[in-house]
Amino acid sequence: MNKKVCTKCNKNKCLTEFTKNKNYKDGLNYHCKACIKEYNENFKLKNPNYQKDYFKEYYKKNKPKYQETNKKHYEAGTTSIQRDKEKWAKYTDEWHRQDAKKLGKTYVKGLLKRKGLTNQDLIEMPSLIDVQKELVETKRMMKKEKNSNIAKIDIELELGSVFQTIKETQKKTNLNLPQEKDNIALTINNTGKALRALIEIKKVQK
Ligand SMILES: [Zn+2]
Repeated sequence: MNKKVCTKCNKNKCLTEFTKNKNYKDGLNYHCKACIKEYNENFKLKNPNYQKDYFKEYYKKNKPKYQETNKKHYEAGTTSIQRDKEKWAKYTDEWHRQDAKKLGKTYVKGLLKRKGLTNQDLIEMPSLIDVQKELVETKRMMKKEKNSNIAKIDIELELGSVFQTIKETQKKTNLNLPQEKDNIALTINNTGKALRALIEIKKVQK
């Protein structure tokens, strides 16, 4: 009972050797799995473009339907390209936020470029990046200092290197940049001046 004869190869085979087909009385195909496999392989060899042509034809027939679906997706902003764009924009936004937070090179360079410096300038005078970074760092600490006494110690430590930068700039530019250890605002202002002076030197050299 659990065997039947394949009408193709005429072999008596187990029922598990036949694929299911609801259209037939016993719910199984007339031909065994091995025969169907052989038939499919032969068909593919004889008609190599059959599948491609079939889908081409299918697409042609259903083109309006596809176009309608695509239009809906496009209008809803849910095509894969639009979704990827959104994801990518979110990712880059977050990256820039983090870069600004930790005063990364991209962020600091961006600040300098807005002051009129080019990539080439920054390659030739990499110390400008450090000066700008310290300037922003000190400004941020000043803001924080308003709410916290501990930050004051940090500021004093930070200012050590800012003073050093001003001193070096002073030598190069003959600018008068007074330094008062207790006057943070003046120091920041002078660091800004020092930075602008360095930029001016660069412009004159060109
Ligand atoms: Zn067979």
